[in-house]
Amino acid sequence: MELSKFIDKKPFVIAGPCSAESEKQALKIANDIKDNADVFRAGIWKPRTRSNSFEGIGKEALTWMQKVKQKTKLKVSTEVATAKHVELCLESGIDMLWIGARTTVNPFYVQEIAEALSGVDIPVFVKNPIHPELSLWIGALERLNKKGIKNLAAIHRGFFTYESSAFRNEPKWEIPIELKRQLPNLPIICDPSHIAGNKTLIPEISQIAMDLDMNGLMIETHNNPPEALSDSAQQITPVKLKSILENLVLRKKKFEDDILSFELNILRKKIDKLDQNIVETLNLRTELVEEIAQFKLENNLTIFQLERWFEILYKRREQAINLEMDPKMVRDIFELIHKYSILIQSKIMKEK
Ligand code: PEP
Ligand code: MN
Repeated sequence: MELSKFIDKKPFVIAGPCSAESEKQALKIANDIKDNADVFRAGIWKPRTRSNSFEGIGKEALTWMQKVKQKTKLKVSTEVATAKHVELCLESGIDMLWIGARTTVNPFYVQEIAEALSGVDIPVFVKNPIHPELSLWIGALERLNKKGIKNLAAIHRGFFTYESSAFRNEPKWEIPIELKRQLPNLPIICDPSHIAGNKTLIPEISQIAMDLDMNGLMIETHNNPPEALSDSAQQITPVKLKSILENLVLRKKKFEDDILSFELNILRKKIDKLDQNIVETLNLRTELVEEIAQFKLENNLTIFQLERWFEILYKRREQAINLEMDPKMVRDIFELIHKYSILIQSKIMKEK
């Protein structure tokens, strides 16, 4: 993917309300954040889950964005979901666009947006799709890149989950990390507001994003969060935005000091050794699983034994609790191990 470097500071900050609600509101927020943000954001067309929610002001708000731009010198950005939105934004001089999570999921919409943008060199941010499918996220970025858009960045806003969670959208940090591995030159912005769904978790998530070397933050900021027409629980005031940004710790990527790198290397070697043991243990476990499969086959027993599975989960949970480990982490790992045990056993049964 051919990309241009348009984000050259860390953290690159995009802030502003979930939705533009009035000219006065947009100007007030923009004025209050102008010293702490690089880009003003405000949703104009809001993709809402339920039709009775506030669906955005629509194109009238584009003139408010123009005023924000003139009065504060901030760059302005909004969400586009159709070719028509793109056309209206380009006519109004919107500086940057983003594609929302509900649009990234649909290749038809993304293609339509990419076509409407062909030949226009405007930065486009692509939010992750609602569900954790990395290839859909990369696919959307590729569609835009194929139409000549080089100023691309991804926005990590978390993923829908059925599990009960402290987050509105589960961060699943491994997905943006894998995105960075596959596309190392693509900037990634974290959106802690949509991950958290409430204001209390925003500082912590922002710090994790910085520690993972993400390039920036998109934080929903409102002059009067309790009265906001959308996403009221997760919006923070401009004063809070300033304090979150001031308290971020930006750590260095590499040690310049040789002794420190040496110490880190010793710790890494220990981790490598343990990882090697884990793989060897898994290999031994696989051999036992194969032996069990043979035994079940010879004695005409089903592969999946519900009680045995519950027993494994129970015992490992107790062990995790005794060791003061996170039982959820242990459960997740054992679910994967068990999934592969079943796969290995089914394969052996099929071969016979
Ligand atoms: C938003 O940024 O206001 C928004 C609707 O986000 P998402 O697409 O991440 O839900
Ligand atoms: Mn929002």
